[in-house]
Amino acid sequence: MDLDQRIQQFKQMAEADPDNELGHFSLGKAYLDAGRFDDAVGSLTRALDLNPSMSKGYQVLGDAFDRAGKRAKAIEVMTKGVTVADEQGERMPRDAMANVLRDWGAPVPTFKAVDRPGPDADTGGAAAPGFQCSRCGRPDGPLAKRPFKGPLGEKILANVCAGCWKEWIGMGTKVINELGLVLSSPAGQQAYDQYLIEFLQLEDR
Ligand SMILES: [Zn+2]
Repeated sequence: MDLDQRIQQFKQMAEADPDNELGHFSLGKAYLDAGRFDDAVGSLTRALDLNPSMSKGYQVLGDAFDRAGKRAKAIEVMTKGVTVADEQGERMPRDAMANVLRDWGAPVPTFKAVDRPGPDADTGGAAAPGFQCSRCGRPDGPLAKRPFKGPLGEKILANVCAGCWKEWIGMGTKVINELGLVLSSPAGQQAYDQYLIEFLQLEDR
């Protein structure tokens, strides 16, 4: 899918389901990729208004402000993001934003979260060596088996915790309904996969 198509698709989702933060978040990211910083700031701010606990949103919004030449605003947003991510025990976005703040010579808030020990029996399997969830950054609770066949299923098994997978199931159902995706068509399947990759932050995995 090219960038214009992605923008159109996420725009459609944001309009069809204006209270769903994922549509605005994904649209904001696509605008950022397209170098449309003001549009990116608008969509990402909307996503965070809808869900202020979306730590990844602060990271991307901070990036958008910075690339728009608004470093002070970027620092403000990333600082808030570090705190939000830390409170939720989301180490990966927290550490990523803390590193950016350090690079910028800005103060980094003190972390409060205590690293959770060992695997959580309720949310998935035992900790695998080197496993870290691509979405929440937790090192425990991978799925017991791949959720479906094929390379994407394997990628999810290797990178996504059971808790985040469960959240995606709920979100994926919404996406299918809101956009009227037909999964038996290649276009519908491709759009669904795109949302899944976006939600689970698998693009770089
Ligand atoms: Zn996770």
